[in-house]
Amino acid sequence: MRVTLLGTGCPQVSTDRYGPANLLRWGDRQFLIDCGSGVTQRLLGASSAGKLIDAVLLTHLHSDHIIDLFQLIISSWHQGRDRPQRIYGPVGTRQYLKGLMALWQPELAQRIAHEKRPSTIALDLDITEVEPGAIIHDGDLTVIAVPVRHQPVKAAFGYVFTDGRRKVAFSGDTAFCPELIQAAKDADALVHECFIHREMLALPGRSPETLANVASYHTLSTEVGKVANQAHVGCLILNHFVPVIFDRTALLADIRADYAGPVLIGEDLMDFDTATRTISHAGGVIALPQS
Ligand SMILES: [Zn+2]
Ligand SMILES: [Zn+2]
Repeated sequence: MRVTLLGTGCPQVSTDRYGPANLLRWGDRQFLIDCGSGVTQRLLGASSAGKLIDAVLLTHLHSDHIIDLFQLIISSWHQGRDRPQRIYGPVGTRQYLKGLMALWQPELAQRIAHEKRPSTIALDLDITEVEPGAIIHDGDLTVIAVPVRHQPVKAAFGYVFTDGRRKVAFSGDTAFCPELIQAAKDADALVHECFIHREMLALPGRSPETLANVASYHTLSTEVGKVANQAHVGCLILNHFVPVIFDRTALLADIRADYAGPVLIGEDLMDFDTATRTISHAGGVIALPQS
C-alpha cells in the first residue's frame, strides 16, 4: 500500500502546497482521496493520471476538497479514460455533481459535438453516497468510511484502507475524533490534518472569534500527537496544514510531546510505501525501521 500526498495545503493559495488530495495505490488499483486545487497536475507528478483512477473518495463537500473535481472528470476524458468515473462521497454528493454537470452542459455539448472524440463514457459518473462502514470490497482490500467530527458540516468522513496485512487511515477534516482513533488503531500510517493555532494568531485580519470557529472543527497541532499515540500508528503523516507556512521545528515539538514514533511533515508529492516503510520525496529516499 502506497500513499502519495498530492496536495498538503488548504483553502489558502500556495505555490508549494496545493489543495487537499491524496493518492492510495494498492497493487494496480488507484484511489484518489479528495480533489483539491491542482490535483490533476499533481497526479501527473506522481506518475498517475485521472484516467487511471479506480475510485474518487470525497471526505466532505467543503470547496477546498472538491474544487477540481470537474477538472478531474474533464481531463480524464481528454486523457482517453475508457470507463465512468466512480465517485464516493457524503450525502449531497449526487446533488452537487448533478448541478456541476448541468452548469457545464452547454459547453460540454458543444465540445462533444465539435471534437467528436471516440467516446464520452468518461463523462458518465457512477456515484455512491457513503454511509458509515465498509464501502468498497476489492479482493482483500476493504475501504471503511469513518464519520468524523467536522461540525457544522453534517457529513464528513475519514477513510481507512486495509487488506489484512497493511492499513492506512486518512483523517479528512476533523476535530479531535475518538472514533477515528479507534478506526485507525495500529495503522501502518495515519495521514492527518493539522491546524497550527500559534501561526494563525500571527496572521493579520483574523479576529479571535473567526480563529476560534475555524480551530473548533480542526485538530490542533498540540492534539494530533495524542491521536497518533492513542491510535498507536506506525507513522504519522501530517497534511492539510492551516496555515500553509509555519515553523516546522515548533510543530515537531508539539507532536513529540505526545508521540514518539516516526513523524512526516508532509510535502506535496511525498510518498510513503507501507511494504518497504520507505519515504520518497524530491529524489531522496529514507527507510524507516520495520515495525
Ligand atoms: Zn473542511
Ligand atoms: Zn479542508
